[in-house]
Amino acid sequence: MSGIVFLNGNVLSMENDEILSSTGVRIEKGWISEVGSLTASEGEAVVDCTNRWIMPGLSDMHVHLATMPWIEAFNPDKTIDPGSLFYDLLLFQFIANGITSIKIRAGEGDSLRLRDEIAAGQRLGPHMTVDSPMFDGEPPLQLACFVSPEGPDQAKEMVRSCSREGYDQIKIYSGLSRDCFDAVIEESRELGLSCHGHVPYEVGLRHAVESGLRSIGHVSDLFHHRMPDLSYDEDRIQEFADLIVSHGVWVDTTLVINKHWERIAAGDAELLAARPEMAYVHPGWRVHLAPESALMKAMTADPEAKVRLRDLYRDTAKAARVLNRAGARLVAGTDAVNPTVIEGFSLHDELQLLVEDAGLSEYEALVASTQQAAAVLGESDRRGSIAVGKVADLVILAGNPLSDITNTRRIEGVVVAGRYLSRADIEVRMNAIENFYSENFEDLADYTAPEFPETLRSLGFRQDSMTTEFEEDS
Ligand SMILES: [Zn+2]
Repeated sequence: MSGIVFLNGNVLSMENDEILSSTGVRIEKGWISEVGSLTASEGEAVVDCTNRWIMPGLSDMHVHLATMPWIEAFNPDKTIDPGSLFYDLLLFQFIANGITSIKIRAGEGDSLRLRDEIAAGQRLGPHMTVDSPMFDGEPPLQLACFVSPEGPDQAKEMVRSCSREGYDQIKIYSGLSRDCFDAVIEESRELGLSCHGHVPYEVGLRHAVESGLRSIGHVSDLFHHRMPDLSYDEDRIQEFADLIVSHGVWVDTTLVINKHWERIAAGDAELLAARPEMAYVHPGWRVHLAPESALMKAMTADPEAKVRLRDLYRDTAKAARVLNRAGARLVAGTDAVNPTVIEGFSLHDELQLLVEDAGLSEYEALVASTQQAAAVLGESDRRGSIAVGKVADLVILAGNPLSDITNTRRIEGVVVAGRYLSRADIEVRMNAIENFYSENFEDLADYTAPEFPETLRSLGFRQDSMTTEFEEDS
């Protein structure tokens, strides 16, 4: 791989909030090799970045990919042809949005394989970290990717099995009992795996944090998710924030999911369904996002639920503000796969909500999507800023994101693990995806495999034939 040099840019390294004007970034073999006042070398590709802002690639640290287990869970009566899934197209949504690192918050076999194929350079996608299936209690939520240990011994055995299968971290969910929680934490520590996720309601925030839960899945977990006391209490949130800060625990922001629920409850389902990014969503999945779908209707059927969803967003934004003021380590996450939270695109909504509703500065919001995202993965030496020796993951913008956070949407180019895609490269791919979905809408809505077009194939995309079966390890 020959090098590329990006010249004359405004570089926002994210090591601090300074912008270095007329600065270049050189990348070689997938790494950043030089930053400063540069000139092009012979044989090197040159990208002129005059009037452009170069920053590290963005991260979404709370994603659930729409892999086979989720699709099956949402379509219990259908036979899903694996050939009707297109993981390459799904992963490209992140790249097109400048997102070069994602964390899968409840893994399964397909996510593990996607992670490995991306890492081996066999597939184009963001750097992926995959949490284990969610450790929950009885009965578990009727969704994909949940496990329910019957007691502490089985919980430990399940942690060992997740470690053998290659999961990066352990994901905890709300219904896990205190005995099982303690067992999961203990066994994970033994195996060198960190634990992340919801605060189980039987455990409570103090015990969870003091035991070593490394990150909390949602700001709203502080006062809401299946917790006995749903009310917002400023003093209690402040106390939790101080506890979280003193233990160095991270919190995923995920404001956008709560914002969308609020909007659906307020009657905005039509507007959400009409967003342009819906064109890139797999038609089978789009069915669930339509205002007339059972899922959408359920959210607006009960007048009391509507009020709750409105209050939930207001309280979540307030809690994020308290956490940020207290100096908590916030990491940007969206909870994509949840209805209306679209992979890739929703991160820009999240960043905007952090600034507009949770009072973060533009820089603080970007820290949550770069520096802190790398830190929660334990990868600060390799990712999260522009510096010599770090992975060449960059996003090139047409406007300064520190003066207006919505400039993160004005993407002129993306570099992922050293591979550069210009805005034109991205557009041609996104247009091909949009056309393929619209031309095969009926088949895909039914998860029947259509013929995979040469246009997409020639752009490097493949049709998947992956299944979710695990290889049994002995
Ligand atoms: Zn989630």
